[in-house]
Amino acid sequence: MKDMLLYEGKAKQVYKAKNKPGQLVLSYKNDATAFNGEKKETFHGKGRLNNEISSLVFPMLHKHGIQTHFMERLNETEQLVYQTEIIPLEVVVRNLATGSIIKRLGMKEKTVFSPPLTELFYKDDDLGDPLINDEHALNLSAVTLSELKEIKATALEINKVLSSLFESINITLVDFKLEFGRMADGRIVLADEISPDTCRLWDRTTQEKLDKDVFRQGTGELIEVYGEILQRLQSVT
Ligand code: UDP
Repeated sequence: MKDMLLYEGKAKQVYKAKNKPGQLVLSYKNDATAFNGEKKETFHGKGRLNNEISSLVFPMLHKHGIQTHFMERLNETEQLVYQTEIIPLEVVVRNLATGSIIKRLGMKEKTVFSPPLTELFYKDDDLGDPLINDEHALNLSAVTLSELKEIKATALEINKVLSSLFESINITLVDFKLEFGRMADGRIVLADEISPDTCRLWDRTTQEKLDKDVFRQGTGELIEVYGEILQRLQSVT
């Protein structure tokens, strides 16, 4: 199914798909990293959980008219996607204040953003993914102003779909990070993954954190909480 390894990131390997030009195999790894790679640990089963979770979420977005790179889940840890050129922007959507925005702006934890807030970060590990504004984004990435507006509007649309999906399984979608890529035909589509690695997910009843913060903060069992997310998603998808 897969050919040459093209790229290895912190959480996934990217292969050319065998005999399928323009398609890639994403292979989810068991590694978890935090604080720009300073904290690292391997969790048996994490790759499967994130692959399965992302493979449930992306088709749900398709149903709501969001275009993505996702084609199909191939096996426990791999999925087939369209090849895109990743735009070096991390698009973060926030419904409640927590994480970096608290440290940066001194906001009170759990401040509600209504409407939800979008932020752009420049995807560059050496620079520590700095926060940037729209004008920086236009200079740093090959997107036009109207494409950037479309990317942000799509991110907010995805927030609506995912917030109600997670609400239906008694979870608050606190914030999340998206990446977009350009297809061979020029269209910009959602790429990368949507998983507890890239979202903050809080149980609505207990406020328990069911995401990578349990690893970042050393407060819980990563495999158990990711498994809980998958189980709840399977009950509604
Ligand atoms: N996030 C991510 N990758 C990153 C940085 C952030 O997936 O490199 C996600 C993170 O899981 C959270 C949201 O983006 O859901 C906002 O993260 P924040 O800016 O608060 O940064 P953090 O506190 O994780 O440093």
